[in-house]
Amino acid sequence: MPRLVLVPTPIGNLEDITLRSLRYLKEADLLFAEDTRVTHKLLKHFEISKKVLPFHAHNEHRFLEKSIDIIEQQECTVLVSDAGTPGISDPGFLLVRACVERGIEVECLPGPTAFVPALVSSGFPCDKFIFEGFLPHKKGRQTRLKILAQEARTMVLYESPHRLIKTLEQMLDFFEPERQVVVARELTKHFETYHRGNVQEQLAYFKANPPKGEIVLLIKGLDD
Ligand code: SAM
Repeated sequence: MPRLVLVPTPIGNLEDITLRSLRYLKEADLLFAEDTRVTHKLLKHFEISKKVLPFHAHNEHRFLEKSIDIIEQQECTVLVSDAGTPGISDPGFLLVRACVERGIEVECLPGPTAFVPALVSSGFPCDKFIFEGFLPHKKGRQTRLKILAQEARTMVLYESPHRLIKTLEQMLDFFEPERQVVVARELTKHFETYHRGNVQEQLAYFKANPPKGEIVLLIKGLDD
């Protein structure tokens, strides 16, 4: 019976790969990877030699039928992204949906993803939260922020360093300046930091200290 296994990979610290993930990477018939060069580096580090085919975000639609045909000819195909869990702000969803529709077994191993450690360490309620992924870059961005300003649950967003200041500035159009925010940077890496403060304070800080590295932005929900 063919099956697809989604294997999470480290988001910075290579020690974060699980034993089961390593076993699947070793035992799979073939790997689909978001970027084969990135995956080859990871495999080399763990001394795994495996056939890797590209599965790019920009060709996920086009590549779908072909990928399903390939998966159906194997016992176990693994999908990995460059970092973290495939399908979480990374390619994967369309392939999983297509496999489910075709009756192909799908399994996602537990493992690294950026938003869970960021949420749990934020100090904001994590019993209920919403994951927004990346905000739209242009159209719909303001509307999304306007809706989020009324959200009572903790909000988790992915953000790029060169857009963080713009986002904090735009937040001031809809959020009260005292709304608490955490900027979680470079998780699991050497320069991991959690910067805590309200929107206004964060804006002042990051204008003076331009943000670098990978960022998860956490926004406390609207108080009752
Ligand atoms: N699939 C990944 C996951 O499971 O988290 C997310 C991939 S998405 C293309 C990349 C974004 O995730 C980054 O721009 C950043 O917002 C967040 N991210 C990934 N690694 C991170 C890290 N080490 N520290 C902080 N944020 C990270």
